[in-house]
Amino acid sequence: MNFQPTYAYAQFLDKEDQLHPFRQRFFFPKHNGKNVLYFTGNSLGLQPYGVEKALRKELKNWREYGVEGHFKGDMPWMHYHKFLQPQSARLVGAKESEVVVANTLTTNLHLLMASFYRPTKERYKIIMEAGAFPSDMYAMETQARWHGFNPDEAVIEVAPREGEETLRTEDILATIAEHGSTVAVVMFSGVNYYTGQFFDLKRITDAAHAVGAFAGFDLAHTAGNLPLHLHDWGVDFACWCSYKYLNSGPGGPSGLFVHEKHGNDPAFLRFAGWWGHDEESRFLMRKGYKPMLGAAGWQLSNAQILSMAAHKVSLDMFDEVGMDALREKSLKLTAYLEFLIENLNEEAGHSHFHIITPKNPEERGAQLSILTGDEGKKLFDYLTENGVIADWREPNVIRVAPVPMYNSFKDCWRLADLLGRFTAA
Ligand SMILES: *Cc1c(COP(=O)(O)O)cnc(C)c1O
Repeated sequence: MNFQPTYAYAQFLDKEDQLHPFRQRFFFPKHNGKNVLYFTGNSLGLQPYGVEKALRKELKNWREYGVEGHFKGDMPWMHYHKFLQPQSARLVGAKESEVVVANTLTTNLHLLMASFYRPTKERYKIIMEAGAFPSDMYAMETQARWHGFNPDEAVIEVAPREGEETLRTEDILATIAEHGSTVAVVMFSGVNYYTGQFFDLKRITDAAHAVGAFAGFDLAHTAGNLPLHLHDWGVDFACWCSYKYLNSGPGGPSGLFVHEKHGNDPAFLRFAGWWGHDEESRFLMRKGYKPMLGAAGWQLSNAQILSMAAHKVSLDMFDEVGMDALREKSLKLTAYLEFLIENLNEEAGHSHFHIITPKNPEERGAQLSILTGDEGKKLFDYLTENGVIADWREPNVIRVAPVPMYNSFKDCWRLADLLGRFTAA
């Protein structure tokens, strides 16, 4: 693309952008009376305007119906999870029966590992990326311990090569092959939270299957960020949160995916609760667990209506836009920000801002992680003082996420402008 570093050009890109109007449907926090430059949609998405109305509606149902709300209204609570299934399925490329919204992310990761990590003396290893999100590290460490294994031996991390920041797919595949029949589960994130690297889920899944292991993914930074085809890729299980790119509010509910080849097998082991029980006989309150077919059979509790109602508002918006259109804008938006930052480096005559996120657009979504120099923290504080909400990660990385649902090309221009002023000062 032939980008230009001028404000007029950023304005032109916004005019051309069909998704630009969606920005009007979100609340932006204020800084000195003006909208902040919000670049942390990968940590907590902004609040869509429709959420308050949706919550008021359920509060009203509760007020007016009490327990009868389970059966009354246009979206009775009894079936609430079903209203989110078709949209969640489109979001991650699954069949409706393969997904369900329930619980929270780390809880689901453990529940899914309870089903898919059934280690034996011979096959007990978990392969994951080095530098995974801490919750995932702790989950894998304690899963290994829970089954009586030493995590130092059971959890194998794939790390970048000396002098490199991100993983090579060939190294991931080679590690899986090398550990061969000792591998029980390959558990990766879809997009690494720190570097923004998007992994090749299909090839990792194939490699896991080739050694007889399961492949599962934590899609916290991936769902709503990149188009996915979990069913076609043959992924065994996955889970994600809804409060990052999916804008469902702090602590929002998690989605989970179980491929139908496992989910339709009632004998597939799991930790059960009443909401995963066959709905025809759920209220007979009898002994003997009979799971619902599909991912619904991994539900434990009755639905968290208030947080799921907020999630539904956001899912409606994703449906309206579609992941393909969102990705198309995202590719352009991230490339534009990258161009502006590289332009600053060129002007300065050296690499002041070192982007560690892969250059290849196929290997990233809406995030650039910028390795800063000694002045990194000062730069970050300067940005904050000037109305930018970005994310600081020790020791010296600033993460910015140009989110296609509500960030504009002008936002990117303004951010780069501030970066430029800091270096010039
Ligand atoms: C955000 C994130 C989490 C957070 O987990 P919660 O259970 O929702 O607190 C876990 N894993 C990854 C990879 C994340 O990015």
